[in-house]
Amino acid sequence: MNMVLRGGCVCGEVKYKINASPLFTQACHCKNCKISTGSSFVIHTMIFEDDFSVQGEIDSCELPTGSGKGYKVYFCKNCGVYLYCKYIVAKSRLAIRTATLNQPIIPQAHIFVKDKDPWIEISNKDICHDAMYDREKTWPEESLRRLSEKENN
Ligand SMILES: [Zn+2]
Ligand SMILES: [Zn+2]
Repeated sequence: MNMVLRGGCVCGEVKYKINASPLFTQACHCKNCKISTGSSFVIHTMIFEDDFSVQGEIDSCELPTGSGKGYKVYFCKNCGVYLYCKYIVAKSRLAIRTATLNQPIIPQAHIFVKDKDPWIEISNKDICHDAMYDREKTWPEESLRRLSEKENN
């Protein structure tokens, strides 16, 4: 499947391109995601690092995760907009901040719904998870196949 997705920061210094269809898009309502977005949830789109290219000056820093393994966040050096991150455990993948894409992507799952702000109503209860989901049961078959091909190479 060939598709190109584009996005960037708010000042326009940093632009990125994704050369393949994303693996999965999810919204996270956990406390950390609220702090880092300054909002009620983050939306992340998972892609392969190999399909990603970025232009412009990027800065990064490492932050802790719940598991203690950490992740690296990348943001525009000029305006500070946080564009994507890389979890240390997810070797081949990046998580793009979906709202920085030029075109929106609807989340396929909501995670940490137990921490969701009470005034947010998610109409599709089937895609809500109290905390994390089981990937094998949640991701589309096509994405699982692409992931296992990538990780076994
Ligand atoms: Zn910027
Ligand atoms: Zn979160």
